[in-house]
Amino acid sequence: MRPEKTLTNLQGWRAGLLWFTQAEQPQARHETDGLLVTAREADGIVRIQALGPYRELAAQYPDLPVTHWPGLCIAPGFVDLHIHYPQTDVIGSPAEGLLPWLEHYTFPHEKHFSQPAYAHEVTAFFMDELMRHGVTTALCFATAHPESVDVFMAEAQKRHLRMVTGKVLQDRHSPDGLRDTDTALSLRQTEDLIRRWHGVDRLGYAITPRFAPTSTPKQLHGAGEIAQQFPDVWIQSHVAENLDEIRWVLELFPEARSYLDVYDRANLLRQRSVYAHCIYLDDTDRRRMAEVGATAAVSPTSNLFLGSGFFNYAASDAAGLRYGLASDVGGGTSFSPFHTMHAAYTVARQSVGHPGISLAPEHLWWQHTAGAAAAMDLSGQVGNLLPGCEADFVVLNPKATPLLARRTAQTETLAEWLFAMIVLGDERLIAHTVVQGQTVNIASQVSSFSP
Ligand SMILES: [Zn+2]
Repeated sequence: MRPEKTLTNLQGWRAGLLWFTQAEQPQARHETDGLLVTAREADGIVRIQALGPYRELAAQYPDLPVTHWPGLCIAPGFVDLHIHYPQTDVIGSPAEGLLPWLEHYTFPHEKHFSQPAYAHEVTAFFMDELMRHGVTTALCFATAHPESVDVFMAEAQKRHLRMVTGKVLQDRHSPDGLRDTDTALSLRQTEDLIRRWHGVDRLGYAITPRFAPTSTPKQLHGAGEIAQQFPDVWIQSHVAENLDEIRWVLELFPEARSYLDVYDRANLLRQRSVYAHCIYLDDTDRRRMAEVGATAAVSPTSNLFLGSGFFNYAASDAAGLRYGLASDVGGGTSFSPFHTMHAAYTVARQSVGHPGISLAPEHLWWQHTAGAAAAMDLSGQVGNLLPGCEADFVVLNPKATPLLARRTAQTETLAEWLFAMIVLGDERLIAHTVVQGQTVNIASQVSSFSP
């Protein structure tokens, strides 16, 4: 698709290819014997130069070194729009819904992340786990401790990953050891971290108020001022996840029209702001998010696990609200994009108050790759295989288990093939994860952690 340029480190990858023909549309294309060509460009980033059928493209690159994976399929690396790395060890903790879960499991655990050595051990395990599941970019919460950001960023930089994270802002209704005891200091720490990490290599910073109830109006407005000062940093938070939470927000912020409006009044709603859950929005909220370019991180395994509710796809589409998929580990129950896509299908079928819909398999896959990248304002950079995209991809083995092999062999359409993998798949489907043209060794990773 793109003529050969004078580039170093040209590399070919021959296998099946799965990609989206436009950055912002869920039209998938599958080539059974394809060639992907990558090269390191002048800025040091390895990008995709060309892709297409092997028989057509190979002749244009006569001396190309080619890695050949017969029977496997190259697909975009998955993008996780909302995940908490410090909750890696909270996954699968039982609780009576969101607020008790935070109080009994999450908050006590997050206190440990003031210790860099502890944070580093969890970060390394977390990134290994993302790689095993084929997730190559994530918009990630750290904790209230600036050290938790430094450790995460340094590890992502070492691995050449495109990752975004931020120090959590929470200066009230939080336990000692997690609460920002000095609001002005918490905002200065945020600015310092932006200057230290945002835009360094492939790293990005996200201004990260935990959620409205755990920040004073002063902290929220301070965060909004920083957001105006740094228009290309991300903003991430939670909104409208749970009915008890919403009642609490409206008591704390009686002037706000809605939970979402609390963030809007603090100038925290804009392009590059990503809000997890967005279950109990009304149409005014949805239209407002669409109007300013804010997006939703749909977290279906978390919403099902905590009994929070169901994201309303039909109303979101009608309002033009953009969204993508997220694991929300540790409220979510799996790092696996396959489990998340499967849960998203289930949630859309269950929508309350209107007829359920059946999301197309291509659309589910898009929500966790190119669609999630678009929701992060990273179209054309990650989440797809089009020329110009950065060379982060997965290599799928559709025969990874006896049942997958049997089922995928019987499918007749691309939609059937993708859906069989969505419903039956897990990390065994990921034969390789490739980051920046380097195959990550995901087979040898066994944690030695002992609590
Ligand atoms: Zn979350």
